[in-house]
Amino acid sequence: DSEPKKEDLQQIIQLMDGFKASKALFTASKMGVFDLLQRKPGLDAAQVAQEIKAAVKGTEGLLGACVSLGLLQIYKNTDLATRYLWSDSPFSLHGYIQHCNETLWPLFSHLESAVREGTNQHERAFGKKANDLFQDTYYNNQSVKLRFMNAMHSIAKVTGKAVATAFDLSSYKTACDLGGCTGAIAYELTKAHPEMSVTVFDLPEVVEMSEHFHPSHTDNRVSFVAGDFFKDELPKADLYILARILHDWPDEKVHILLKKIGDACTPGCGVLLSEILLNEDRSGPSRGLLQALSMSDGKQRSAAEYSTLLKSHGFITAEIRHTDNLLDAMLCVKEMCSASS
Ligand code: SAM
Repeated sequence: DSEPKKEDLQQIIQLMDGFKASKALFTASKMGVFDLLQRKPGLDAAQVAQEIKAAVKGTEGLLGACVSLGLLQIYKNTDLATRYLWSDSPFSLHGYIQHCNETLWPLFSHLESAVREGTNQHERAFGKKANDLFQDTYYNNQSVKLRFMNAMHSIAKVTGKAVATAFDLSSYKTACDLGGCTGAIAYELTKAHPEMSVTVFDLPEVVEMSEHFHPSHTDNRVSFVAGDFFKDELPKADLYILARILHDWPDEKVHILLKKIGDACTPGCGVLLSEILLNEDRSGPSRGLLQALSMSDGKQRSAAEYSTLLKSHGFITAEIRHTDNLLDAMLCVKEMCSASS
């Protein structure tokens, strides 16, 4: 044990350098490098520099870092970048990468304060207090709102099919996607289930922008309703979707929402939950545990924790699916007889 082990050092160095790699990816994405090289593969560094209006020396450094990370070959997009990094690819993560750069990066730069205080750091990072993350932070500025919607849309497009096909949903004909944002998951659901129609329910600020995100073949089985799921009546449906909703809220708020869903449901109705499910011993996955560090007022939970929350509103967990995609899924069904019967 007198010498440091190579694998140990590699593991530590990877963690220490992780933020540099993240920022190189974010910067190349923001400066349009992947979009440019998708349109014009084969440029040299000086040509790239001219097109992205940057210094040749700086551009060489950025391109070199991207080559070393497997994102570029000298100089064109690798298959990975072609699939996920330029803005118009079907599975583009460009929108989410912008969100990481503009929102999560500033929040994480205040991680020490977040840990000391146990609160979210929106005020430190952005100069304003966020009581409601959506209404106070994301939606009172049009370009921030669009950036957030693009971020949600990009993840939902990548995960939507895995969520929509995780379970046999053939007995459900009407679904309501609560906080369904751009409708990306709703469109995947109607594609996978030809007899299902889906109502996307989200805040008015989101619904008014939803047309920007309609796929070119709009599907008349997807409709949009504006409202606040804590206050307004929920659209009737026999399946409610909660995709990346509950992790944003503390248990008290989750109970308010689940009670409303429980009241709207008759026996046999379902809730399809889609979240990163933490291991029951909280040993991972690190994606979920790291996301928890951005300290919204919500929290990441395990399947058993979600089951307990849903059980108290009359829903029995029928199936749990750990997909190989970014999000896992649970299907819960409203019990046949309630305590009051
Ligand atoms: N379900 C989408 C997905 O998985 O891609 C979006 C998830 S995003 C993290 C949370 C969504 O909940 C946003 O679209 C937001 O506008 C919506 N939302 C937040 N508060 C809401 C409220 N009080 N009523 C209705 N929707 C709300």
